[in-house]
Amino acid sequence: MTKTLPEQAVGVDIGGTKIHIGITDRSGNVAAELTVPSVDTERRVIGQVIAGIRNVMKLAEDREEPLNLQGIGVGSAGQIDFASGTVHYANDLLPDYTGTPIRELLEREFSLPVYVDNDVNVLALAEKRFGSGRHSKYMICIALGTGVGGALLSEGKLVRGAFGGAGEFGHMTVDFRGPRCICGNLGCLELYASGSSIARRMNERLKMRERVGADAPTVPDAREVFARWRQGDEIAEQVIDEAVAALSSAIASLIHIVNPDTIVIGGGVAESGEAFFAKIRNEVKRRAMPSMYRNVRIEGASSGSRSGMLGAAQQLWEYS
Ligand SMILES: [Zn+2]
Repeated sequence: MTKTLPEQAVGVDIGGTKIHIGITDRSGNVAAELTVPSVDTERRVIGQVIAGIRNVMKLAEDREEPLNLQGIGVGSAGQIDFASGTVHYANDLLPDYTGTPIRELLEREFSLPVYVDNDVNVLALAEKRFGSGRHSKYMICIALGTGVGGALLSEGKLVRGAFGGAGEFGHMTVDFRGPRCICGNLGCLELYASGSSIARRMNERLKMRERVGADAPTVPDAREVFARWRQGDEIAEQVIDEAVAALSSAIASLIHIVNPDTIVIGGGVAESGEAFFAKIRNEVKRRAMPSMYRNVRIEGASSGSRSGMLGAAQQLWEYS
């Protein structure tokens, strides 16, 4: 008698610069995986995805891995219409991507069921299955990257809102007199706590110093700001303190609105270490009602570097 093969899915994580594709089972065992650039001189994003899926299947076959593919799950940068599996909006990092009917094209190409969602929603699914949200039913997930993204789980299920736009925590106002954000609002969280904002605010301060004659070379990214902060740099400390204050005031409001049991913070900025999380916990504790803060865990994302791909694939078992 042949042993029953575990069900598998293809997980596709589409980012601004690269696409990570893998074949995995429900427990996260990866049979094959590869990474390709998001945009190629000859092919658009969807062309890269289709070629990448074919190649990862071939990779598994070449290794004589027996496959039992049940479907394809995609997590993508940009705004995604989950119901139709279409790209609602994507910026210029992914040219010609807005409007792409990802689900329709992949279903036609591979004759498998396809689910498509945004990258933060699938990160939340990965955290729920493999990471810091494993015992959580009411989870808030905040991703600090180029921008600030969010996802919300209630009774273990993603909350999408009327058309799928829920969870834009990056565009919560944390300073109602603050500067104008690209979204139209004032003083949004994203203006203080995203990776690009942390680097920009550091450089603005350094330029002011330069004007008074001090030698102040600029920083390339938030990683460098965090490195200087750990070394005790005074300007970096001001910038990080402000990012923490902005983030903590947003988190305190979210705790009051949603009553979560767990808050998971992921994305590049969140890889900056335990000292950053300790600061956030302290600041949130100062700002939130004690009765509501008491049982909330605030943790870094822990489903690892494969989280986007694994979370994308998890959609197959989440919804079918
Ligand atoms: Zn905004």
